[in-house]
Amino acid sequence: MRCPKCDATDCISIEIHLASDDPLQFFSCRHCEARWWQRDGESVSLEEVLSLAAKKDPR
Ligand SMILES: [Zn+2]
Repeated sequence: MRCPKCDATDCISIEIHLASDDPLQFFSCRHCEARWWQRDGESVSLEEVLSLAAKKDPR
């Protein structure tokens, strides 16, 4: 995985399951500290991530 901002390949990826939908992948660049999200290979905006998180059933 290559950082879209600084082009470094030194990125961390974490898989996160929010709702029952497809898992999200969270990426973080160790070089420039950029953060971004993907789902199914497509980039996801932070707003989308937050709205997905809000859909999660409160218990
Ligand atoms: Zn970077």
